[in-house]
Amino acid sequence: MSKLRFDAIEAAFKKRAAEYPIPEGRPSEYFGELVFNREKMQKYLDAKTLHSLLDCIDNGKPLDLEVADGVAAGMKQWAMEHGVTHCSHWFQPLTESTAEKHDSFMEYDGKGGMIETFEGKNLVQQEPDASSFPSGGIRATFEARGYTAWDPTSPVFILDDCLCIPTVFISYTGEALDYKAPLKKALKAVNKAAVSVCQLFDPEVNRVQVNLGWEQEYFLVDDNLYSARPDLITTGRTLMGHGSSKNQQMDDHYFGQIPSRVQAFMKDLEIMGLRLGIPMKTRHNEVAPNQFEFAPIYGECNLAVDQNMLIMGVMKRVARRHGFRVLLHEKPFEGINGSGKHNNWSLQTNTGVMLFAPGKDPMSNLQFVTFFVNALEALRRHGSLLKASIASATNAHRLGGNEAPPAIISAFLGRTMTEVLRKLLTVPDDTDIVIAGKHKYDLGLVEIPQIFIDNTDRNRTSPFAFTGNRFEFRAVGSKANCASAMIALNSIVAEQLNDFKAEVDQELAKGTDVKIAVMRTLKPIIARIIDTVCFDGNGYSEEWQKEAQRRGLDVERCVPKMILEYVKPDSVEMFSKLGVFSLQELQARNEVKFETYAKLIQIEARVLGDLAINHIIPAAMSYQSQLLKNVAMMKSLFPSTWESLSAPEIAIIKKIAAYNSDIKVKVDAMVDKRKVANKIDDAYQKALAYYEIAESFHAIRRPIDKLEEICDDNIWPMPKYRELLWIR
Ligand code: ADP
Ligand code: MG
Repeated sequence: MSKLRFDAIEAAFKKRAAEYPIPEGRPSEYFGELVFNREKMQKYLDAKTLHSLLDCIDNGKPLDLEVADGVAAGMKQWAMEHGVTHCSHWFQPLTESTAEKHDSFMEYDGKGGMIETFEGKNLVQQEPDASSFPSGGIRATFEARGYTAWDPTSPVFILDDCLCIPTVFISYTGEALDYKAPLKKALKAVNKAAVSVCQLFDPEVNRVQVNLGWEQEYFLVDDNLYSARPDLITTGRTLMGHGSSKNQQMDDHYFGQIPSRVQAFMKDLEIMGLRLGIPMKTRHNEVAPNQFEFAPIYGECNLAVDQNMLIMGVMKRVARRHGFRVLLHEKPFEGINGSGKHNNWSLQTNTGVMLFAPGKDPMSNLQFVTFFVNALEALRRHGSLLKASIASATNAHRLGGNEAPPAIISAFLGRTMTEVLRKLLTVPDDTDIVIAGKHKYDLGLVEIPQIFIDNTDRNRTSPFAFTGNRFEFRAVGSKANCASAMIALNSIVAEQLNDFKAEVDQELAKGTDVKIAVMRTLKPIIARIIDTVCFDGNGYSEEWQKEAQRRGLDVERCVPKMILEYVKPDSVEMFSKLGVFSLQELQARNEVKFETYAKLIQIEARVLGDLAINHIIPAAMSYQSQLLKNVAMMKSLFPSTWESLSAPEIAIIKKIAAYNSDIKVKVDAMVDKRKVANKIDDAYQKALAYYEIAESFHAIRRPIDKLEEICDDNIWPMPKYRELLWIR
């Protein structure tokens, strides 16, 4: 990379940055500026409309069309004051990104002119011609069209000139075609189940909110370099590339000084996020070079999911203004860390109690232990399903790669909570659980230390870690829609809480005291989880693989096989009992997942084959020709000594020949396998065939990376890792 090129990039970046000045005022002043939030509702809606809308948002009351007309009028006025000309339903089809179709406000006014209109019916429902979205055959079998319906619990926002309305996307027969509809059902199920358990302890509780705090990891690469890598452009990751001599081994990138160009990007992104009502809080360098992270303050799960989907889109746009491309792929570069999206998950009551945190008195501590233990039991029962919820072709590269949790679902408790649980197994059922330090040391009590020293313990090797007042689900991929993990997690916990409550009720029916009934029900559960799903050791170790197998945990690594878990009887029963998914929806969605998996690997296989054959082999051959010419000239000039003089070149020539032929043979074999796979009709079998094909990529890549090492730098056809990975 010449300095000139860098300078040109930097100049362009400065120009772009100047075009997007920092807004006036403090961040707290422009926070939510582009969102139709409660403050805007107060300002733009009349009292009656406002009241009905809030009743709909807060209490799930239906909204009639007249009220919707009033809301739409207020929104239109607000939007037009911001120069908005279009509106769109904004939804999350099963594609891992969001979808929008813009319609302008323009209509004929009937007097020969035009007028801007936006009515309740435009707000509430739309029928996008959605026949090209993946549906797993649901729409083909039933109704050709799907429709989108407004989700009033997630506020409307402005992006550029468009008023975006968060919606669910469903078929006419009611099946979900998106992530939001089932997420809302799962959140409703866990709310209901958790409220019912809470009422054992506090009758005041009538709502339990799920909180989600995501931490988004990503890479940045220079836009120009990105454009010269067909693999990055088409697959989001590098399919080849020799490791940079310096990458993350010095640990100097993690929390290091943020490069100024990146800082400018982050600033711009934060401003956009804040204006869109996303409470951007933390930013830092991550472990790998060019890898970064940001996280907002956690919030209500459905909204937090929308905000994550929104900001992933915004990131891509803001990055380009700064001469970058953002890579959300879980594993853009081999040999260095990939990216994840930790999902910090907690439950909170309307009375302000965090259900995964110890309380003030023995009863609230028992409530905490109840939720804690039931969450872990849900994990024990449905760990494989939780794994399926984060399984994808792209995330597969990251799991188990000694940088991210292994493909085994277990929970890290920390020493404190492990001891609390073990102690609970040994004490009488009426024992108090107290906060240590407030009482005299008493052997008879179960004590929770006031400060959770162990829970700040950073066991990064666990996929599901308790961190003091929440669980951190770390296996979620950086590119994923968090809804997938949140649907599974909240559903399995809802089911377990329901089952737990039913058992406690049986005890209560016998006239048992609440506290004793809860303890009695908890103890066998604790005994079941403590030596199965709970594991505080090193999740990256080989021993854990063996130990997990011995414990009967699922160690499957093949993505299509993982996904099958959704249609196993336990999962189907759980989802249908809760009303989250029907069997038919589960089958249809799996079909989509298998197809997506196969297509993605197919694209990668094609790109890898093309690059190998028409970029790499020709480049290596042209260098080989140069060497051959050199040897031939040596021979004519130095007839007696040429052989020893040319020995190094000859060695390279032979190596190139060997690598080239190795590449050709392996690419041909891969193409043959693809032909076979493409003829398979069954989506699952096809995905399995493509799984095998993906497994062969590495063998093709290896000789390519070797060639990169020995060929002349000038002829190498693509930017190398050492260029891609360091932002000046
Ligand atoms: P880490 O050290 O794990 O990187 P951070 O503090 O950077 O942690 O991020 C933690 C994330 O967890 C933030 O998004 C934060 O808002 C979120 N979080 C904190 N408390 C809770 C909670 N009770 N429930 C859900 N999320 C939470
Ligand atoms: Mg974290």
